[in-house]
Amino acid sequence: MNTPLSKNIDNYLFCSECQREFESGMTDFGSMRDYSKIETGFTDLGFQIWCIRHDRNVCHINFEGNDLSTDLRCIVASSSD
Ligand SMILES: [Zn+2]
Repeated sequence: MNTPLSKNIDNYLFCSECQREFESGMTDFGSMRDYSKIETGFTDLGFQIWCIRHDRNVCHINFEGNDLSTDLRCIVASSSD
């Protein structure tokens, strides 16, 4: 299987409370990307995205016991790509 290791995010996930604050103009940040403050990692059940600012779950993906393929290589595209 050919796993894409370049950036392929189609739909970004943000904390709904961070998004509400950003969209209401409460922040001086220029983008949700800059305002977002998350940490990510594996859990006993799967993978979680956590909002550090609001100390709340953004997303938890339950692998439901499946042993999914995970690629943790850090590939940097060469200048000829
Ligand atoms: Zn938040």
